Amino acid sequence: MKERTFAIIKPDAVRKNVVGEIIAAITQAGFTVLAMKMTRISRAQAAEFYAVHRGRGFFDELVDFMSSGAIVPIVLEKENAVADYRALIGTTDPAEAAEGTIRRMFASSKGENAVHGSDSVENGKNETAFFFAESEIAGNRA
Ligand code: ATP
Ligand code: MG
Repeated sequence: MKERTFAIIKPDAVRKNVVGEIIAAITQAGFTVLAMKMTRISRAQAAEFYAVHRGRGFFDELVDFMSSGAIVPIVLEKENAVADYRALIGTTDPAEAAEGTIRRMFASSKGENAVHGSDSVENGKNETAFFFAESEIAGNRA
């Protein structure tokens, strides 16, 4: 059964001008793009998006980074999308990520790690709603 997940190309990857390469890697892996835009979020929005990490040592750095420049939120569809996309991007720390994964290829560090991926279908739905109106998701239209 088709499943949806939610991705973000983070500010480091936008600054490196590798948005096209990352989208190519995602679509070559069999994902369909249902919605995508380039936007920028405030510190408050970044703190809300990553609220689950509030209190962790890296939280302020994460909020500063995610609000530091343009980002590209994307809604993706594929069989087993959540797990397959997490496998495609690799581990949080690019130094530990497998060869050929997006973070291994494009990330700079554990903090500036090129892409986000939802960790469950439920979180993916909530994260999608954070960035997109229902009407902006092409796959929702007849
Ligand atoms: P994401 O949720 O962005 O897809 P993830 O699920 O691999 O990443 P999380 O544990 O959810 O990792 O952490 C969220 C983000 O916080 C990481 O992607 C990274 O940008 C940042 N982060 C996590 N741990 C650290 C750390 N130890 N030092 C610096 N930044 C970190
Ligand atoms: Mg996470």
